[in-house]
Amino acid sequence: MANIVAIVGRPNVGKSTFFNRLIEKREAIMDDESGVTRDRHYGYAEWTGHFFTVIDTGGYVTGSEDKFESQIRKQVKLAIDEASAVIFLVDIRDGVTGMDKDFANVLRTSKKPLFIAANKTDTPDKTMLANEFYELGLEAEIFPVSAENGSGTGELLDELVKTF
Ligand code: GDP
Ligand code: MG
Repeated sequence: MANIVAIVGRPNVGKSTFFNRLIEKREAIMDDESGVTRDRHYGYAEWTGHFFTVIDTGGYVTGSEDKFESQIRKQVKLAIDEASAVIFLVDIRDGVTGMDKDFANVLRTSKKPLFIAANKTDTPDKTMLANEFYELGLEAEIFPVSAENGSGTGELLDELVKTF
């Protein structure tokens, strides 16, 4: 079976930045829609000899409260169906938000291996803040990462490739 990893999470947590870091093909992927990725992007990545496909899910949510819910559900269900493992990105600067909880509730229904990446942990002094996301009650290890400078991503990928 092909190894397919989906990156999910609410808008602006850094999904596209993280995706670009994993696939190391920045120029091909950065979208021109002011930080908003409308479509699903597919890229190819390699870590310690393991090859896998990465999906950057849209995360583009608009409209009323209940629209949020249904769009999140749709995005996550698609990702779960298609992927062999899921990375749930959250933003360490914002902490746990209501929309993170909405994502968590859908992710709870997945049987796929799940990893939480607490993004924007740009400096080691922020690492402890990642523990806050245990509040989401997911059966997933939490990795403080910085999509921007790459810190912590190796630790996450080491565990991720073990699920292949
Ligand atoms: P997406 O909407 O989830 O795809 O998020 P983007 O990848 O478009 O990033 C949203 C914003 O967060 C952009 O301004 C990024 O530069 C910023 N960002 C992404 N990753 C990091 C990070 O690790 N550290 C910091 N400080 N900013 C980040
Ligand atoms: Mg994006």
